[in-house]
Amino acid sequence: MSPATPPMCLLCQTAQSGSDVSLFTARRAGEAGRNGNTVGTYVRADLACAVRARTEIPPWLRERDPEEVAAERTAELEQQLHGFLDAVLR
Ligand SMILES: [Zn+2]
Repeated sequence: MSPATPPMCLLCQTAQSGSDVSLFTARRAGEAGRNGNTVGTYVRADLACAVRARTEIPPWLRERDPEEVAAERTAELEQQLHGFLDAVLR
């Protein structure tokens, strides 16, 4: 990752520090995977995205109902995960 790019977990969409973010790759399903094709995404290595989505609320969302914000962020995390899995299975 370029030093000019702030590290970000693309699952929970939170900025992270230093080397906490790693490129996670998965072999694609079927023929593509057997041919060595992979897909990848940058993810915080501790895989605590589900906790962060509910507890690390960005400042611009803090005036809203915390439970509503947590529910939205959890749904967004689920969408990101499904997007990655869709790319693996495509
Ligand atoms: Zn994350």
